[in-house]
Parts: sequence; structure tokens; C-alpha cells
Amino acid sequence: IIDIPALLSDLGIQETNPAYSTGLAWGGEKNQETRTISSPTDGSQIASVRMATAEDYDHVVTTAQKAFMEWRTWPSPKRGEVVRQIGQKLRDNKDALGKLVSYEMGKILQEGLGEVQEMIDICDFAVGLSRQLHGYTMHSERPTHRMYEQYHPLGVVGVISAFNFPVAVWSWNAMLAAICGDTVVWKPSEKTPLTAVACQYIIKEVLEENNVPEGVFNIIIGDASIGSQMAHDGRVPLVSATGSTRMGKKVGEAVGARLGKSLLELGGNNAIILTENADLDMAMRAVVFGAVGTAGQRCTSTRRLIIHDSIYDSVKDRLLNAYAKLPIGNPLKDTNLVGPLIDKHAVEAFLNALEAVKQEGGKVLIGGTVLEGEEYATGTYVTPAIVEAENSYHTVQEETFAPILYLIKYSGSVDNAIDVQNGVRQGLSSSIFSSNLLETEVFLSHWGSDCGIANVNIGTSGAEIGGAFGGEKETGGGRESGSDAWRVYMRRQTNTINFGRELPLAQGIKFDI
Ligand code: NAD
Repeated sequence: IIDIPALLSDLGIQETNPAYSTGLAWGGEKNQETRTISSPTDGSQIASVRMATAEDYDHVVTTAQKAFMEWRTWPSPKRGEVVRQIGQKLRDNKDALGKLVSYEMGKILQEGLGEVQEMIDICDFAVGLSRQLHGYTMHSERPTHRMYEQYHPLGVVGVISAFNFPVAVWSWNAMLAAICGDTVVWKPSEKTPLTAVACQYIIKEVLEENNVPEGVFNIIIGDASIGSQMAHDGRVPLVSATGSTRMGKKVGEAVGARLGKSLLELGGNNAIILTENADLDMAMRAVVFGAVGTAGQRCTSTRRLIIHDSIYDSVKDRLLNAYAKLPIGNPLKDTNLVGPLIDKHAVEAFLNALEAVKQEGGKVLIGGTVLEGEEYATGTYVTPAIVEAENSYHTVQEETFAPILYLIKYSGSVDNAIDVQNGVRQGLSSSIFSSNLLETEVFLSHWGSDCGIANVNIGTSGAEIGGAFGGEKETGGGRESGSDAWRVYMRRQTNTINFGRELPLAQGIKFDI
């Protein structure tokens, strides 16, 4: 299905195992620890990468700091022009990069291509923004004074990303940071470093052609220890970290202890509410895509389905029907809708969660097995599970990063469903299916969903880049991508200018010398 050497050569990848890149230069000690990356799709060893040392990290951040001194002086629309060209390169390489994402991470090709499309979209968005990094102007209380605010570049932005969106998360952060005048040090997930290396090769020509200083876009290949070094590093004013809540708590604490800024995009426990007024034909497609898409490994995956008791049995039957027909297998094959989990640890977590929920009284209605046979030899393909459960179960309260959908019954008004929906520690994505305006408006009201994302008559996953993305509570509170998320990548400054010959003080204070 895939010719890896040809694909890597299409992407211009000459060396797959540098420990870091500062945009134009590649490096790392030759005798460092290497790690072999194998595809969860078919178990083939795709490449080996060298893991960066603390010294490599130091070198990269020093280079990024130096580059910042020059990059911040470029007019923002000029920086936008570089991002425009990066977007074009991504368009040219969409097929190849989409395939590599699919092969290295295991998501189906349609979703791999969709991820690259998101990167292209954020480039377009950032180009427009590069002419609109605006602040407010205010009227001063003093005569012959004016006030306004400006946004200035911040410095080196650290980006720590998770395996499930191996490249899009970088672009969401890096393209905005770049137009804002920041330099970026990206530590991709150690489970998917090759796609990160590919991105660096894709943008290299653009950087060279535009004389972008070395150190504006950097990658550093490493595990949690490099991420932790970044979190503690006072030279990195903003750390944007995407991953588990466990990781986010550590990063947030370390960055907070030095009073840096963090942008945290952490775990979700997303629910769809189906009221008695739901259009079930529409809802079923959203639920199944949300629950089994990316094999349940999206931060916005649908994990809980909160169903009105009057339609519970019919929803259950429809879902069982749809799940029985799910094509599972090699994600690069068009006809498959469910690929593998990232690795055997993820399979173990899936099986453990199902065992635990059964102990708590849950009933597994379908799925929950590991597939065997030639096509599934990696041991990473599982059958998505549907479980009848209670929201209060410990297992339901946790995010298991796998395709498990919990069916939870509610009765009475939509308020009861919203209580269940909000009754978890995470607050990323939520949605309601209903054609009753009174129900949907309550869901969207300030006593409705407590999540960062609240949708009506669409599912929990598949956000567009134009809106600010992120969630509340243990999801971390960060917002990235669209709307005014760019502001976090800049420092804000209030300016008051006196164009008169007197010096009146604010609040009418008299102070004559
Ligand atoms: P993970 O937390 O294991 O790893 C994520 C990244 O953090 C990796 O690069 C890892 O090396 C790094 N890391 C781990 N421990 C660290 C530490 N102590 N200090 C610094 N860095 C550290 O997560 P994962 O398994 O790769 O991804 C799955 C998780 O990511 C899920 O919980 C999912 O919900 C979450 N996620 C959230 C979003 C979002 O936008 N909210 C998006 C994608 C994924």
C-alpha cells in the first residue's frame, strides 16, 4: 500500500534521524540514543530517530533566541508572506504528508489528509491576521492625551505536541507565533517524530528563499525529559502544551513556578446529548464518527452519549447495527473507517478500562476485542466498544484514549442531561442534538454546557480552525487556532501619550513641585 522510501524522498527527507533542526541546520551527537519508529499500521520500521540531549536543547533555544532578535524586526505582513509560501508548500505536499501522517500515526488516510488541510487553512488564516494584530484605542481622561495598546512579539515559544495530531497542532501554534514575530521550538511526540521531521523539510526551501534567520522554526526530538526542560526554562516565555491532563499539570506547575505563560490543551471527556427531539438519522453519523474516528484517539472524541429514556432503545439498536458493520483495518485502504491504536500500551489501556467498567457494573454491548489475523498482526487493531454505564463510574469519569462509547440514560428535562454532561472533571467539547430551540438555547446558555466547545446538531469532533479551540476545567483553559487566540503569542502594552505642554495627573491628583 505504501512505498516508504519513495514517500520520504517525495517529501525531500534526506536524513531521518537528526536530534534537532534549527530550520536550516540539522544536528545532534552521532552516538546518542536512537529510537526506532514503527508504524502501528503494519509494524514496519519506518525510521530511527536520535533523541536530543539536554545540550542539544540548549543549543536550539539559544539559536531561537538569537533569531528572535532579527525576526521581531520584520514587518508582520512580511512574516505573513513567509507563512503564505509555507501554506503553498503544504498544498504541494498534501498527499505525501497526509499519507505519512496516516502511516506513522494510524489514522485513516481521509483524516491524515484532513489534518494537512487544517495546516493549510491555518496558514491562510495567519496570513490575513498578519495585517490585523490590533489593539484598542481609548479616550484619555486628561486633555491633550491619547491612549492606545499595542501587541509586541513575545520571544521563544515552546510547543509540546501529542501523537494524535502529530502535525496540525504544531501549525496551529507555529504559524500564529511566526506572524506575531516569535520563534518556535517544537518538541513533537516521541511516538510520531518522523512527520515533524517531514514538516521541517517541507518548509526548508521557503526559509532559504526568503532569508529567514536560522532558528525561527526549530524542532527538537525528545521525550518527556526535553518537554520538562522546556517547561522549566525561563528563556521560553510561553509553553503551549498539548497532551494528557497528567502532563499538563506538570508543565503548568513548572511554567507557573517561574511565572511564565502556558497554553494548555489537555484531555477531554466529551459527550453528545440526544434529547427526545433529536433527528436521529443525523445524530447517528455524528456519534459514530465522533466515537470511532481516529480510533477514538481524538481529544474531542465522543466518549459519552447521554440519551433520553424515550429514545434509548432505538438509539442503542441503531448504534449496534452501525458498529457491527464498521470496516476496520489498514488506514491507508479507502474502504476502512477505523485504523489501529497507536501502540500496544494503548490497547492495554483499552482492555483495562473495559475490565474496570465491567467491575463497576457496566455492560459491554459490542466490541472490546483485539483483532487477530494477518492484516492485524501488529496487535494494535481493536473492535470499538459500546458500553451501558453510569456517569458516576470511576472509569467513565476518566479519559481512556481509545474507542469506547458509554451510553448513559437520562429522563425528564434537558437540564438533567446537562448536569450529566457537566458532571466530569474535563471540559473540552460537547454537543446536543435537538430540533427544539428551547432545549438547544438552554444548552448554550451560561447555565448550560461548561465546555470550551458547545455544538448544536453536529458532533463533538472535527472543529474548524476559524474558532478558538480549547476547553475548561482539567482540559487546561488554553485557546489556540482561530478567533483572537493569537493574543497569547504576544505581549500587550498600554501607551499613554501627552501632546500638550501641561502635565495633568490622572485622577486629578495635585502634585506641585
Ligand atoms: P502525553 O501527555 O503522553 O504526551 C504529550 C506530549 O507531552 C509528548 O510530546 C510528551 O513527550 C510530552 N510530555 C509528557 N510528559 C511530560 C512532562 N512531564 N513534561 C513535559 N512534556 C511532557 O499525551 P499523548 O498520549 O501523546 O496524547 C494523548 C492526550 O493528548 C490525550 O489526553 C488527549 O486528549 C490529549 N490531546 C488534547 C488535545 C487538545 O487540544 N485538548 C489535542 C490532542 C491531544
